[in-house]
Amino acid sequence: MPETLPTSARIFCIANQKGGVGKTTTSINLAAALAQLGKNVLLVDLDPQGNATMGSGIDKNEAAVNLYQVLIGAADIREARLRSHTGQYDVLPANREMSGAEIDLVQMPGRETRLKQALSSVQDEYDFVLVDCPPTLSLLTLNGLASAHGVIIPMQCEYFALEGLSDLVNTIKRIYRNLNPDLELIGLLRVMYDTRVTLQQQVSAQLEAHFGEKVFQTIVPRNVRLAEAPSHGMPGVVYDRSSRGARAYLAFGEELVRRVGGMAR
Ligand code: ADP
Ligand code: MG
Repeated sequence: MPETLPTSARIFCIANQKGGVGKTTTSINLAAALAQLGKNVLLVDLDPQGNATMGSGIDKNEAAVNLYQVLIGAADIREARLRSHTGQYDVLPANREMSGAEIDLVQMPGRETRLKQALSSVQDEYDFVLVDCPPTLSLLTLNGLASAHGVIIPMQCEYFALEGLSDLVNTIKRIYRNLNPDLELIGLLRVMYDTRVTLQQQVSAQLEAHFGEKVFQTIVPRNVRLAEAPSHGMPGVVYDRSSRGARAYLAFGEELVRRVGGMAR
């Protein structure tokens, strides 16, 4: 049996194997929302695109050391982490070098648990660690899922959303059985929601019928302020905190704290 995780920070992956569904937007804004609630947060950018890094106001190409070196064992996690001054949380930055980790890791011992090992030395310093996963079920994503207590799935309420969801839920079950007995589905977050679209209302209702309490009450609307914020290197909840999108992510931070507040640490 794999050893159980040390219990300090709650480590959550923001995952969905589809691209452009709001993973990074959710990661950045949830990190900043939790920071505003007084939580110590580490945001791990596991995507070679480095969007979570940039959206946190950190230039991904200026970082002297990034998560790639940490995963291959060439740098300590403490050397790599940087502060998001706009978001008030720490970041483990990523850039294109990370795509090399996919290949390098294959040969390495404990290739699925390199992130877990790295996090174990700093997780006592945090209340929450959020892992922004790439849009694949790659070795990088496996490292994220192997290190986490739970998965948060952002999704758009579209026609094929439910189908894609069952693949992801099956993957989570497989990882739970083989790699990480602590892993659970924390919840599904409806994002980029447009109440005027009947189909979205229908899919949203289906989600609630099928997944019940696993569907977060908070719904994040489609809101252009959230899309503008990254170009200013700021989380949306900082860029325009009174916008509808920001208010939704602030409410989501509170809902998450309420929901996992009772989780054993
Ligand atoms: P992923 O990380 O899953 O690929 P992103 O978070 O990068 O997805 O989002 C994809 C695009 O949609 C980005 O351009 C982002 O700014 C935009 N976006 C995300 N959430 C919203 C929202 N609630 N309203 C409007 N635009 C959004
Ligand atoms: Mg992304």
